[in-house]
Amino acid sequence: MTAAPTDGELYFLPLGGVGEIGMNLALYGCEGKWLMVDLGVSFGDESMPMVDVVMADPAWIAERADKLVGLVLTHGHEDHLGAVQYLWPRLKCPVWATPFAASILKAKLHETGLHTQVPVTVVPAGSRFQVGPFAVETIGMTHSIPEATTLVIRTSAGTVVHTGDWKFDPDPLLGPPADKGALRRAGKDGVLAVVGDSTNVFSRGHAGSESEVRASLIGLLARYDGRIAVSCFATNAARLESIAIAAQANDRHAALVGRSLWRIDKAARENGYLSDLPPFLTDHDAAYLPNDKVVYICTGSQGEPRAALARIAAGDHPHVTLGKGDVTIFSSRIIPGNEKEIFRLQNDLVRLGVEVVTEKDEFVHVSGHPGREEMEELYHLLRPRVAVPVHGEARHLQEHARLARACGVAETVEISDGAMLRLAPGPVEVVEHVPTGRLCVDGPRLVRLDSEILRNRRRMVFNGSAVVTVVLDKAGTLLGAPQLTALGLLDAGHEAEEHEAVVQAVKDAIAQLPSKARRDDSQVREAARLAVRRSLRDSHGKKPITDIHLVRV
Ligand SMILES: [Zn+2]
Ligand SMILES: [Zn+2]
Repeated sequence: MTAAPTDGELYFLPLGGVGEIGMNLALYGCEGKWLMVDLGVSFGDESMPMVDVVMADPAWIAERADKLVGLVLTHGHEDHLGAVQYLWPRLKCPVWATPFAASILKAKLHETGLHTQVPVTVVPAGSRFQVGPFAVETIGMTHSIPEATTLVIRTSAGTVVHTGDWKFDPDPLLGPPADKGALRRAGKDGVLAVVGDSTNVFSRGHAGSESEVRASLIGLLARYDGRIAVSCFATNAARLESIAIAAQANDRHAALVGRSLWRIDKAARENGYLSDLPPFLTDHDAAYLPNDKVVYICTGSQGEPRAALARIAAGDHPHVTLGKGDVTIFSSRIIPGNEKEIFRLQNDLVRLGVEVVTEKDEFVHVSGHPGREEMEELYHLLRPRVAVPVHGEARHLQEHARLARACGVAETVEISDGAMLRLAPGPVEVVEHVPTGRLCVDGPRLVRLDSEILRNRRRMVFNGSAVVTVVLDKAGTLLGAPQLTALGLLDAGHEAEEHEAVVQAVKDAIAQLPSKARRDDSQVREAARLAVRRSLRDSHGKKPITDIHLVRV
């Protein structure tokens, strides 16, 4: 029934991004149709070996793609649009985005060859447009990327405000401050529910302004005579500009090191940002400058092993070297989960003699998400009846709900991915849980994170694999010794005895089968498989992925 909401009903259904930070995918349902807001990715961590990119499985809405009227992207961050290039072929709906987000999206769609297929309508912040039964207004906000928007979604069953990622930066440097007038007007017209960013609900006060970071960087860079490297999140175009201006103020030239920085530089200039700056130098050109005349802006603030900064720290970057007397400034924060990689990187730099400066030492970073005072101000502007915290883990959602109630919001709901929430009519209620899941990019395809393929690969990583080939005649007599390959388990050269023990176990197991069973392939295979597993469990304490190749001649 809920696959097609009836008149007078309004639903919110997140398939990703609630109970976790990343891979946002939200759905709103009204008059039999669904509207998607954001379609993002997350990045793998230690709990997912060999997984780089993860996203919400859109299967539930993909099965109802004829009811999906469109996808509106709130801003250009990976956790909000990074999955379009992988998932759009399953959805095939029109897409709306701000000019800056559209530039980033188009560059990504090029990567998967979809740029000629995906219909992207470019809508600046402050636009109004109709998507099926949803009247969408985009309100310009500030964040750690230009052109972040909050969506006011008006329907026959009520108005929802989907905040996206935001903060109130009074001086964001690129683009105007948040349009509080539009927020206040939406509040006056009446807001049923706010679906809002919970990321920094534990931070007191305000996030702080990009302009304050700029002033601080100008002073900080003046203290150094050697080479300076600054690492920041590539999508923070205002920060890029600040570092370049701080370099100029200190009679230095700024160079970009890392592909994603060049991509953002291109997207920014396409949309009229950074136009007062001279072109950035390449790392190759900057190598000819004296040490005190250069600032390298580098990717890799999170310790990503293939990014520029990790390669520089490992001494294998083709054009950039750092050493004694040089400094690296992390104009960023530690994203929880990345601590090990970041500290490894910082240790590598310190061993080279490089001074490391982070936000703990100097004022070099502000967050892109609202602190508590900003969240309170938003609730006072919008005055919703209901608050639905999203973009956070369970503990963030709970605290956000508490804050909303303290702001006078009558109803708050803490949900997780897959909960279908009826916002109207009547009291807010979870009416159904729909199946959810995660997909990850595995070479050219997408596979479920809980699929057998990945389960087996994880087991192979931790337990190795054993493949045995047995050749039998029709009666089931072994023709020659079974051949064993035990990858990641046995060193055939140095562990000949152990190797022989497994082979013998297979021989014995087959010999012990009744003669009728020996003629049955599946029984032989199962007996051999169990023998291999038992033998390797006893000798090595491992439960490898085991496969038996059986040949009858
Ligand atoms: Zn986000
Ligand atoms: Zn964001």
